[in-house]
Amino acid sequence: MRGINYPTAAVRVVKFRDFFLCFLLLSLLPSVTTWAQQLVFTHDDTLRGSITPERAWWDLAFYHLKVRVQPDDSTLNGSTTIRYRVLKPGRTMQVDLQRPLRVLRVEQDGEPLKVRQDGNAYFVTLTKAQRPGQTESITVQYAGKPRVAKKPPWDGGLVWSRDKGGAWFIATACQGLGASAWWPCKDHMYDEPDSMAISVTVPEGLTDVSNGKLRRVTTNPDRTRTFDWYVSNPINNYGVNMNVGRYEHWSETYAGARGPLSLDYYALPEHLDSARTQFRQVPLMLKAFEHWFGPYPFYQDGYKLVEAPYLGMEHQSSVTYGNGFRNGYLGRDLSRTGWGLLWDFIIVHESGHEWFANNITYRDVADMWIHESFTNYSESLFTEYYYGKDAGAQYVIGCRANIRNDAPIVGIYNVNQAGSGDMYYKGGNMLHTIRQLVGDDERWRQLLRGLNRTFYHQTVTTAQIEQYVSQQAGRNLKPVFDQYLRDVRIPVLEYRPTANGVQYRWANCVAGFDMPVRVCLNEAGPYESLTPTAQWKTLPVKNVTTLIPDANYYVLSKLVSR
Ligand SMILES: [Zn+2]
Repeated sequence: MRGINYPTAAVRVVKFRDFFLCFLLLSLLPSVTTWAQQLVFTHDDTLRGSITPERAWWDLAFYHLKVRVQPDDSTLNGSTTIRYRVLKPGRTMQVDLQRPLRVLRVEQDGEPLKVRQDGNAYFVTLTKAQRPGQTESITVQYAGKPRVAKKPPWDGGLVWSRDKGGAWFIATACQGLGASAWWPCKDHMYDEPDSMAISVTVPEGLTDVSNGKLRRVTTNPDRTRTFDWYVSNPINNYGVNMNVGRYEHWSETYAGARGPLSLDYYALPEHLDSARTQFRQVPLMLKAFEHWFGPYPFYQDGYKLVEAPYLGMEHQSSVTYGNGFRNGYLGRDLSRTGWGLLWDFIIVHESGHEWFANNITYRDVADMWIHESFTNYSESLFTEYYYGKDAGAQYVIGCRANIRNDAPIVGIYNVNQAGSGDMYYKGGNMLHTIRQLVGDDERWRQLLRGLNRTFYHQTVTTAQIEQYVSQQAGRNLKPVFDQYLRDVRIPVLEYRPTANGVQYRWANCVAGFDMPVRVCLNEAGPYESLTPTAQWKTLPVKNVTTLIPDANYYVLSKLVSR
């Protein structure tokens, strides 16, 4: 999801132990001290954001979430069955469920287990020996009134709303907040189940749309219906969703790179006509992204676009949509170039996340740029695919006006802390800059496709992505990533004319910054490729009064006096 309003620096109550840990960590990052000074982390943050010993010994294999939605009193009740592989001996298991929801009972093989609550985490004591290599399961029953979303999708939870006809229109949105805001799970991104079943029971007359394929609808004697969905692929926590409403449904089959792909659309009756028109952009999106990124990563689960009572979110194989059935971002062009008004931002951006977020997923939310930078750049690539290379470049360059350079893009590890919202526009511009260094469009495309092949259905770290991109680009890009992901300064190409030519160097940059750059000599050219470092170098061309970097590079330049 896009996150202009994504919460970053909230000041919270400090518990000494975690504060100290966090302080230690931050002392290694001198460039972020002002930002860091605003941040303190709680014991809850550590339980939520780290791979605790009570998480590390078991590996998720399968979830079956069963939940009953009761709109009349805004409650949920149900259970999650967690099937897991034992990796190493363990006795205590951490399961997460956020207040005010409560765990009622946990059992293994039908026997109730002892549970200790610690904030939003529950520590379950297992009685049976847990033997490495074996697959076991527990069932966690829960109930209560889940947190209501204040400003979805950014400040998430449950959305209880009504359509124009007065029928319930309900949805979940929980990126950042975490899936444990509405169901019990291992609420850390590093581990995903291999597959998942989702059974949602709703009052009659309403339909639930969740992830994957609909296997069965059962009419129950108590005037409810149960929708059984099945996801055949690994799925991340916040990608799981339910959308409940009086939906109209239509579908088509897309002839995709891996064969037929089912496309299913859901909209409220009052929006049926406009949705049918607007959602025609879905096949266009798929054509462009399969070209750039490779096959859609979830053929078995199909692709769905589902109307939701908030702006939108990249739920896996079940993208949610609330962009008003018009082009742009709520009718606006984020690039201010006009190109952003030619397509629907939510259809393009949220679907782009199927490759970067759902296929390739961050292990720690500190690395959220892996989702948002590539997906921001997917908007530019979509534009390029249909309107040409210049249009795509204008789009991403136009988005620079939204960059704040307020804090590093990489967040803080192990405390559920994302970095700056610059992960969108600045991240996109970093990738566009790296593309210039690669210098070959086809090679660049193969790099993007290679990422999706190499890290297919995996959770990854920034280091893995950096390494892969460097390798494919044939250049050590560590200083470039450090500059744009871990520092807030924009490199300045300083230059000064001399009798023997023009001198140039990088300033305002990280140590070792040596990025090549293409520059225009004087107003009209010619263009020249330079490899500046922090030391002055001389280009032996006389009468050069200006050096203007190619606008595709996200850098600045400055004439300095001798
Ligand atoms: Zn996004």
